[in-house]
Amino acid sequence: MISEHLTTCRLCPAFCGMKVELDGDTVVAAKGDPLHPISRGYLCPKGRNVGAFHHHPQRLDHAMVDGVRSAWDVTLDDLASRMKAIVARDGAEAIGYYTASGGAYDTAGRASIGTFFRKLGSSQRYSAVTVDCAPGMRAQQIVTGGSAEITPEWFPDDQAPKLAVTIGSNPVVSHAQLGMMLSDPVRWIRDYQALGGELWVVDPRRTETARFADHHMAIRPGSDAHLLAYLCRELLKDGANQSELDHHVAAADLATLRHALGPFDLELAATRTGLEGSQIDDLLAAIRRAGKLVITLGTGLNFTPDALLTQLLRWVILVITGSVDREGGMWVNVGWYDQLEKRERRSVSQAAPEPKTPRSRPDLPMWLGEVPCGAMVDQIENGHLKALFINGGSPLTAFPEPERLRKALRSLELLVVIDVMANELTEIATHVLPAAAMLERSDLPGGWSQHMAYTAQVVPIGADRRKTWWMFAELGRRLGFGVMDGIDPDTSTDDDVLMAIAANGRQPAEDLFAAGPRGIILPRIYGWVHDRVLPGGKWQIAPDALIDRLPDLLKPVERPDSLRLVSGRELHNHNRMAYGRYGHKRFDANDLPTIGIHPEDAARQGVSQGDAVTVKGDRGSLSGTVRIDHSLLRGTLHLTHGALGRNACELVSSEIDPATGQPVMMSAIPVEIALAS
Ligand code: SF4
Repeated sequence: MISEHLTTCRLCPAFCGMKVELDGDTVVAAKGDPLHPISRGYLCPKGRNVGAFHHHPQRLDHAMVDGVRSAWDVTLDDLASRMKAIVARDGAEAIGYYTASGGAYDTAGRASIGTFFRKLGSSQRYSAVTVDCAPGMRAQQIVTGGSAEITPEWFPDDQAPKLAVTIGSNPVVSHAQLGMMLSDPVRWIRDYQALGGELWVVDPRRTETARFADHHMAIRPGSDAHLLAYLCRELLKDGANQSELDHHVAAADLATLRHALGPFDLELAATRTGLEGSQIDDLLAAIRRAGKLVITLGTGLNFTPDALLTQLLRWVILVITGSVDREGGMWVNVGWYDQLEKRERRSVSQAAPEPKTPRSRPDLPMWLGEVPCGAMVDQIENGHLKALFINGGSPLTAFPEPERLRKALRSLELLVVIDVMANELTEIATHVLPAAAMLERSDLPGGWSQHMAYTAQVVPIGADRRKTWWMFAELGRRLGFGVMDGIDPDTSTDDDVLMAIAANGRQPAEDLFAAGPRGIILPRIYGWVHDRVLPGGKWQIAPDALIDRLPDLLKPVERPDSLRLVSGRELHNHNRMAYGRYGHKRFDANDLPTIGIHPEDAARQGVSQGDAVTVKGDRGSLSGTVRIDHSLLRGTLHLTHGALGRNACELVSSEIDPATGQPVMMSAIPVEIALAS
């Protein structure tokens, strides 16, 4: 008999409402929940395919030690005893963890791993923040003088500004970005336009979002900062919100900024971006007409060499137009747990850099309590990281120089992989810990945007898998400490753990549990950043990170005639996980990715649809298959982001921007393309 269960999709942080149909313990269908207040019945192909993912033959079913199937007690005893030996010899600091999107949406697992490592006494914590989010978060910290979590958000409803500009982001395909969680994207965009909203897309590709937008600006990859610098300069002459400037911007900062932006005229913007001057001025006029606006910058932009500068310029435009933390503009998420608007100023101000640095990379300061991912390989090679837990991610698809990293990972005494699917890391792990997938655990999805929910477990946990929180509770017990107060791995349930986590939330935990997957909408509170965060009530609109970097934009472009490679997500994938394709075939890491190329570039390079090609960057090359793509700007190549097997990591150096901890160049990469020999 078929039963129906209401839950939340947690394959990405859009957290769509989902109805799962079961025949016994078999998932036979997944549909959108039409009564969910945000997703309104929408599920993308990843969510609709959750049954194939859940029952996939490559799911991890049993714990493994050194490649051999092992009982849980034996596995955890062995792991704990090897950890004790490392701690006794090298200290707890020699044991670290990396967590990414595969583990980030498991509330109990995420909380337990963080607490476990704090109690263990290790600060070697790595996460995907310094893979693809750091420039945006660093800019937030710099301009507000506060916390990196102070994220301006928007939603395309009747409270939104009437102008939205999205740069290097494609929400119709990639529904969750910093400050924009947009499930059911096409309908929301159409609703927004029906309310008088105007959507501009700035992207070298005519993306799926651009097809629904009012305007598309096909900008040259990596030149977004030039566009924003010009807009800033002109808005400071005409278009700024005078009250915001008078009360919340220091006069000296304004003068410094005006001076620094002096050279960024229309001619320079047009030359560098490849856009028509009239197109750029049309956008400027649209901003002046709208007054307040939304600007969202996507992951693609965060990978470009001038990402931090672009993020800072975006903030300056939002600030000078009075578009952030003001009604009619973007609100700043107050959080379910953090309740930032209630805190005293000092507790949301974390602008002082964290002085600690990883021993092998003193040039890369820690921030957000984490070591920048770019330091991981050096830490291993220099003997400062002996054991690594990897929770739901693969540094091999996310960091530059993957072969160097693979060698380093193989040299670890302990490589502990917690995941739901077999992958290239489980092949080299000392310990494989098979985790519950989303339908096998209860959860508290949300809180990163305006929505917060509770979902119960949908199916019994299968095979010999375990909850991630349970693994760390058991390990803590073996190492002599409790991981979560009042939680006993023998008797506690998911709900006990989640209830303890939710106890510190905005509303009583019971209310949240009662709200279920349709959840609770968080309040939009305006003005609290001005009142409680800004030092002296002023935005930092002329920070050194902006003023010192602007002159770099005036240098001649290196290799102006090179093709530039950009990466983008596909609807069926979330980073390395091909959720929407599981079930069609076994996933093969040796599959060649497709390389999108404009037909005129293809003709010039002598390649055709389906050809096997080699793309060569400064530090390496990758193989792919040509896909002729009319939606691309000439001079641009396009590759799927984060794909297992082959991705942009193969092409670039491991140079890190010390201000963000993120690789300097993972997009807009100068490359050559040729038929594979
Ligand atoms: S993977 Fe798709 S269905 Fe699931 S939450 Fe994200 S957008 Fe929604």
